[in-house]
Amino acid sequence: MSAPSQAGRISTESIAQEQPFDLESVRRDFPILATEIHGKPLAYLDNAATSQKPRAVIDALSNYYEHTNANIHRGVHSLSERATTAYENARSRIGRWIHTPAEDHVIFVRGTTEGINLVAQSYARPRLRAGDEILITQMEHHSNIVPWQLVCQQTGAVLRVAPINERGDLELDKLEAMIGDKTKIVAITHVSNALGTINDVKPIVEMAHRAGAIVLVDGAQAVPHMNVNVADLDCDFYAFSAHKLFGPTGVGVLYGKAALLDEMDPYQGGGEMIKSVTFDKTLYADLPYKFEAGTPNIAGAIGMGAAIEYLEQLDFAGAQGHEMQLHAYMVEQLKTVPGLTLIGTAEHQASVQSFTMDCAHPHDLGTVLDDQGVAVRTGHHCAQPVLEKFGVSATARASLAFYNTKEEVDQLILALGRVIEVFR
Ligand code: PMP
Repeated sequence: MSAPSQAGRISTESIAQEQPFDLESVRRDFPILATEIHGKPLAYLDNAATSQKPRAVIDALSNYYEHTNANIHRGVHSLSERATTAYENARSRIGRWIHTPAEDHVIFVRGTTEGINLVAQSYARPRLRAGDEILITQMEHHSNIVPWQLVCQQTGAVLRVAPINERGDLELDKLEAMIGDKTKIVAITHVSNALGTINDVKPIVEMAHRAGAIVLVDGAQAVPHMNVNVADLDCDFYAFSAHKLFGPTGVGVLYGKAALLDEMDPYQGGGEMIKSVTFDKTLYADLPYKFEAGTPNIAGAIGMGAAIEYLEQLDFAGAQGHEMQLHAYMVEQLKTVPGLTLIGTAEHQASVQSFTMDCAHPHDLGTVLDDQGVAVRTGHHCAQPVLEKFGVSATARASLAFYNTKEEVDQLILALGRVIEVFR
């Protein structure tokens, strides 16, 4: 993996002492990695779908239910105060991790998908007029396509799609030429889940802002691989999910600039998001609570905070270095497999590699790999348009995390040899 420049993390008092990256000891932090599948050691190479969870996150979840469980922001009793403090501490920790400017906000949502839908419905829908344009790219996940299509149907706005080249890189000059007076929103992925392409988001934000458009970044695949700095990117919204970041499922974050969030109506109505309610009029709560209707995923948010705390004490730069080297090794090894075609060879790539084989459909290939203990994703990866661009309806995708090993990559390559034996 080689990333465009991202400013480093700030240190804060609550950040634990960083340990040098030690692969063996890091692997012991993830109990599931010791699992056997069909009598073989598990080689978990499906991290872009969801990552595995360290013991620290698993313990934070069970500790919460054993010692803290109560509803938040409501009770005067001690448990409720404890739960509220833990939930709000998680919010602050996540905010520090992505460098949220003090005046802006971290909103807890169900995940990237809900974060994008929130912006589509609460920001875009009331503001867009017929003929206005939303610009996305050809490499977007369905989560960053369908919410905008819905808004286009609701408002008469037009969805435009910036193209990518044969390697899977954005064609920046073409994207720039598509940004004009009519562009109101640019919604772009930071890292492609199907191709691994890392987009240099900052200049795109600048281009969009010059034209008066706002920018939402889909950060689902970026946060596990790089130090994201939303202040430096200057994007207006940034959405990501905990479960790809070594945290629990069912929770994620929408970062948003206060100036925009302030002007937006709530996404959903209900408890927690109000100051006062009468049958005539409701006054909404202050940010970020205006966007957190109902009882949130309290344990999930605390688990997400625990995942970040885990990453803080890890030598994240060392972990990234290991992952980059392993990705380079995996790509070199994949190139030696007869009949294998790499899909996505962008200049800057996160540790995600799609491929096809001439002898087997990706689903069949995936089944043989599973027999050999190797977990990869097969299918369209919720990114059908980008696969269409490459003329395929499905690929196999191996995606790494910092806890993966060279032996696991070797296990993948051997298992691909087995695929050839079975299907040739
Ligand atoms: N965007 C990208 C780039 C993704 O990879 C994913 C998950 N595959 C999503 C959005 C949606 O994330 P979630 O399902 O956690 O909401």
